[in-house]
Amino acid sequence: MRRKLVVANWKMHGSLASNQALFEAFKQKLAPIKNVDFAVCVPYPYLAQAQSLLAGTNIAWGAQNVARYPVGAYTGEVSATMLKDFGASYVILGHSERSTAYCESAENIAAKFMMVKEAGLTPVLCVGETLQERESGVMERVIAEQIDELLLTKGGGVFANAVVSYEPIWAIGTGLSASPEQAQSMHEFIRNRIAGYDAEAAQSVCILYGGSVNPVNAAQLLVMQDIDGGLIGRCSLDANDFEKIGQAAAFATQTGGAK
Ligand code: PEP
Repeated sequence: MRRKLVVANWKMHGSLASNQALFEAFKQKLAPIKNVDFAVCVPYPYLAQAQSLLAGTNIAWGAQNVARYPVGAYTGEVSATMLKDFGASYVILGHSERSTAYCESAENIAAKFMMVKEAGLTPVLCVGETLQERESGVMERVIAEQIDELLLTKGGGVFANAVVSYEPIWAIGTGLSASPEQAQSMHEFIRNRIAGYDAEAAQSVCILYGGSVNPVNAAQLLVMQDIDGGLIGRCSLDANDFEKIGQAAAFATQTGGAK
């Protein structure tokens, strides 16, 4: 059985003072939750704070982007090895708020994915379709194109122990979540697509759902067979909400979700 993973995406929120309070609340509330992995992806400047406050807890930390190059004259960029220096474990890649606003191509995201893996960190590759793509029924083709960039050039093995986050763009920050059945169907599609290249990697890849997960809908989503956890935006800025989502993940584990 794959372990559930619940990842907080703090986006561009926080300050040293507010983070300190939130980290402390996370530590206290998440410590009793067993058999679930947690991570908080913070803005770059707060990685050192995450490292000093979360080391030795059951909460890992990470970043929300990375450079596609290892080192060099790339003003404003941050390399995977720099993230590793600060103890980061996870790096979110291809989030729609980046790929839309900064026109990130699938090829660029794939290069970043490989950089993250080479540094020994875990990529969290975001994929998702727009509302128009869903309504016109092409959502599977759209998601396939997003993961095929890696499958076709690097093979399925690169997904072994990696994280993919299915994030329908219409559900991010809108309060409108995919239904458990819609999410399960897409997660199964993603796993099967990877299995077409590498059956073992498909079993180990952790497929998160992201898009308006909250304490009310978390239990129904997380119990689905191919939903291995959640990428949480808005509700990760509230320790009580995040705790409840973590508890839903633990409950889904106990009751046999995510085989
Ligand atoms: C996200 O930004 O990855 C996300 C899922 O946000 P929200 O939970 O707010 O929809």
